[in-house]
Amino acid sequence: MREALHVIDNELVHLPYSATDDDVTNFKKLAKKEIYQCPYCQAKLIVKHGEERGLYFSHQHSEACEESRMVDKAEKRYTKQTERESSLHKVLIDIIMDELEIKAKINNGMFVNVGYKAKAEWKEYPDIYVKLPKKELAVSIVTNVSPAHDSKLAQQITKRHEYFIEQGLEPVWFIEKVEQAIEKDKNSIILWDAELTIASKTQEDNMWDKLISSEIEDEKFYDYFSYPSSFIKNVDVKSLYYIFNNDQQVVVKVQRFLKDRVVKPFRAFLINDGYELPFAEALAIDDGFRLSNPDIEEELRKTFQDKVFQKREEHAEQQLHEENLRKQKLEHDEKERELRLKELRKQRMGEEKNPAITYNELKQLLKERIGLTQKEQMQLWNRYMPRIGLNNSKLIWDIVINNDCKNFSDLKRFLDK
Ligand SMILES: [Zn+2]
Repeated sequence: MREALHVIDNELVHLPYSATDDDVTNFKKLAKKEIYQCPYCQAKLIVKHGEERGLYFSHQHSEACEESRMVDKAEKRYTKQTERESSLHKVLIDIIMDELEIKAKINNGMFVNVGYKAKAEWKEYPDIYVKLPKKELAVSIVTNVSPAHDSKLAQQITKRHEYFIEQGLEPVWFIEKVEQAIEKDKNSIILWDAELTIASKTQEDNMWDKLISSEIEDEKFYDYFSYPSSFIKNVDVKSLYYIFNNDQQVVVKVQRFLKDRVVKPFRAFLINDGYELPFAEALAIDDGFRLSNPDIEEELRKTFQDKVFQKREEHAEQQLHEENLRKQKLEHDEKERELRLKELRKQRMGEEKNPAITYNELKQLLKERIGLTQKEQMQLWNRYMPRIGLNNSKLIWDIVINNDCKNFSDLKRFLDK
């Protein structure tokens, strides 16, 4: 065991992992004065030191009690469970434990312990166990989320998540902040498998559900955001809690999304860019952890409504603009058509004013106008008509009229040109 109760003041004593020879001698001396006892059976403990285990407490004559043996076993299983985590995992747990221990002192009926000690008999352990007057929380931190191990990790996490629920606990997951895959132009976020599994459903998410349910009654809602799906029927807003160290302190980033695809890729509608919350605030105790700032959320919901309103206006304006363009084009086309019709009509009317004539009519007309003789007529027939064509008799008559020919010779001058 790595910890014991201090007999005099009943405080928990933790032995350091790495100890100098002086440390070892000193702790061993203190133990001989019988100041350490087992937190489970209250037996006096001695201190031992080994290559692998470092410094540790042990029952006398190696007669460990049942409870301490179970906790030792649980610690081994927990160590195995957390093998995959990064070095940040341990640091974050320590920070959260410190914060929660402070809160436990001021909240009646609140109790905090590391998961494997609180629930040594379990098969899976939360990193931290929190007991509140009305519920128990299983707090876990996931680090090292990468696409390569994503599916396997998601399976492990899902199993653990369901196990905690079976045991009557409410799982709370924090995830080490990794690069987020956000499609800005589509207003969407692409989630890891693991992220979809550990997303929470909180009081604030329910309030967002309400707001979005009313907004999507407008069937063009997703068009406003260029979001590529409009098939989200069951509005289910969820939240993720990213944890990271900004320059001064550990913060939680609250990220909400509207659940959409349940097969890969896990695209979801991004509700906003999220916001950072100091750790102490995120872990404030209401019914469970607060995990949000109600004022910011209220503000964000207002902003969201304004944004939808603005996008709706823009969309309507765009529609109107397109409608106008369509109308203008129609009007233009109509004018073109009318112009063409007019042209055609003019043409036809011209033809009516100036109807074609037959060769016989031409002969008659020429006889009257320029005194065409029999001989001249033969000449016209043989020399000119084959060239001009009988159907074009009118052409000859036009020449006579337009040039005011007085006789056949006048006409011939033009025809010979
Ligand atoms: Zn014991």
